[in-house]
Amino acid sequence: MAKGHYDYLLLGGGMASDAAARGIREVDPAGTIGIVGREATEPVTRPALSKKLWTDPDFSFEQVWTGTAEDTGADMLLGETVVALDTDRRTVRTASGREIGYVRALVATSGTPASLDIHDSHASGRVIPFRSVRDYERLRGLTSHGSPHVVVVGGSYIVTELAAGLTETDAQVTLVFTQDTLLDQMLPADLAGRVELWFRTHGVELVRGTGATGGEVQGPDGPVRLTLSSGDQIEADVVVLGLGISLETGFAAEAGLETVDDGGIVVDAHLRSSDPAVWAAGDVARYPDPVLGARRVEHVDHATSSGRSAGRDMAGAGEPYTHTPFYYSVLFGVRYEAVGTLESSLEIVVDRQGPVDDPSARVVANYVEREADGASTARVHGVLLWGVEEGTDATDAAREVLAAGPVDVDTLPGRVRLG
Ligand SMILES: Cc1cc2nc3c(=O)[nH]c(=O)nc-3n(C[C@H](O)[C@H](O)[C@H](O)COP(=O)(O)OP(=O)(O)OC[C@H]3O[C@@H](n4cnc5c(N)ncnc54)[C@H](O)[C@@H]3O)c2cc1C
Repeated sequence: MAKGHYDYLLLGGGMASDAAARGIREVDPAGTIGIVGREATEPVTRPALSKKLWTDPDFSFEQVWTGTAEDTGADMLLGETVVALDTDRRTVRTASGREIGYVRALVATSGTPASLDIHDSHASGRVIPFRSVRDYERLRGLTSHGSPHVVVVGGSYIVTELAAGLTETDAQVTLVFTQDTLLDQMLPADLAGRVELWFRTHGVELVRGTGATGGEVQGPDGPVRLTLSSGDQIEADVVVLGLGISLETGFAAEAGLETVDDGGIVVDAHLRSSDPAVWAAGDVARYPDPVLGARRVEHVDHATSSGRSAGRDMAGAGEPYTHTPFYYSVLFGVRYEAVGTLESSLEIVVDRQGPVDDPSARVVANYVEREADGASTARVHGVLLWGVEEGTDATDAAREVLAAGPVDVDTLPGRVRLG
């Protein structure tokens, strides 16, 4: 039975809160934990929603749940949206009018997926800003009969892997993205080009160089007519939107916590906010990464590592968060990882560790900024590990390259080995 006051109150029912509850339990076996979550479901392993649930026949839906309540004894206050935080009285208020007190609180609310103005007077549910396990279930239901035309909008790595996952169904998939070449904002140009070819080989139609501006659902069983920024229109049975999130931190800013322009909550090396009883972790935290500098990271390795670290610190461990996170994705069975910033506007030093014309072959790419025009030394801002297997030493080797400071560019090839 939910209480009105908790030793630890975790705001947001996602991956960082799950990890925080586990971190608290490592230090404090008895303190009461409450988790307030807007979704009606318990936390899930979110990356599975765009990957394994589509691509891995051995991964069942039951495996998606993190099991937070059972493992930690936390009370789950689900379907409750936090709307106000009172740092003087140490309470939060939810949209349903519930007031909950805390000794220490964590903000881990991530954000709300961006949507488009798509008129759906029939509430068809066939336009899906994709984020939650319910979104997955809806998309799975809509793609499990016939061969519907699914238009996926967005060019991020997450929506790209979802489009790849959808090719495992009978759906006809179209991917609409603003870039000239898919993933060219982060991949070396030739690799991006070969990945595109790969998508086309799997039957995905690519509509490049345009976004979507809005649309209309044409009747309860009619198509969704989507208007593109190019002025063209495209019809679909289902539209999936992967347009990023806007952070859910308004209540924290209103409570006086220090935030930055994008809504990120400023925290110190212990993930503690400007209020001494409130921590932040996961997507919302702007933290001082010891290698990469102050930043906000929307990736799972950071969510689980910062969540655990915040939980331990809330329970009195007194340890800073020193982990430099990586992120990973999987496309058509090929796994890649990234540490630091992958921006193709930086100079990219490619270290090919496999055949040139095979998109699944191993590649290490170092994203560098020269110390001066024509200088042989440069700072490495990011490292891409393309084709890396899970759990190798390569991720740590990439972290070392980033931490090393300026390096002679000619010495980069070979510093990170993928196998
Ligand atoms: C489909 C998908 C695939 C992904 N794949 C990858 C991947 O392959 N690799 C990778 O590195 N990262 C991936 N990510 C990103 C990663 O999952 C997130 O960075 C991570 O989940 C962040 O954890 P979090 O706890 O901060 O946010 P979340 O896990 O999103 O949890 C936040 C929770 O807070 C709730 N909430 C929001 N506002 C309120 C409020 N006011 N009151 C109460 N609750 C609230 C939300 O509903 C949500 O349940 C993926 C994300 C998605 C959506």
